[in-house]
Amino acid sequence: MEFVVSKPPLVSIAVTNQNKRFPVRRVMCVGRNYMAHIREMGGDERDPPFYFAKPADSIIPNGSQLKYPPCTSNLHYECELVAAIGVGGCNISEDMALDHVYGYAVGLDMTRRDLQIALREKGRPWDMGKGFDQSAPCGDIHPVEQVGHFPKGRLWLEVNGEIKQDSDLELMIWNLQETIANLSELIELSPGDLIYTGTPDGVGPVVPGDKMSAHIEGLDTLNITVC
Ligand code: MN
Repeated sequence: MEFVVSKPPLVSIAVTNQNKRFPVRRVMCVGRNYMAHIREMGGDERDPPFYFAKPADSIIPNGSQLKYPPCTSNLHYECELVAAIGVGGCNISEDMALDHVYGYAVGLDMTRRDLQIALREKGRPWDMGKGFDQSAPCGDIHPVEQVGHFPKGRLWLEVNGEIKQDSDLELMIWNLQETIANLSELIELSPGDLIYTGTPDGVGPVVPGDKMSAHIEGLDTLNITVC
């Protein structure tokens, strides 16, 4: 097939221990999924989690240099477990939800916090605070058949070797089964979708020169340098 402008590249992510890659369709993110993060952000503790999206081409791989983005003076890290969907569906039950997951990775939901908060206060969409270029660093995907699932486990983030976030996946308000069940009522999930499952407390700024190391016990570390 021929196209009238140059064809955008397919975004994909490396998979551990094999040559084949994971193709990215959509990047869905869960907002306010850890109580301690809701408290530090001043949110309503009774509100359920919710969703926002990033463009697929905001993904950057492990080892990337993240160019400090324009139009912000408060770029924040958010360390998160990323679930990669392998089998799609609508109205997926909680019991079946984990069967739809191909694998897991460590991700960073980079956020222009100043823009996000200004947009939130005006009741406007968050997109320009969340979905900017290079805003979704994602480590290599580990297949479920090799690492299992992650109902709990330590998640932590270091900046220049100093621990900034340190929590446990079991503290999610909605676990992954509940998120997949709920999200698949709203949209049809398909192979290639990524779900960033939310961040715990301890979010904060980075500046050019900072080295971020995002960790989840049992997954490869995601290393990103801000430049
Ligand atoms: Mn987040």
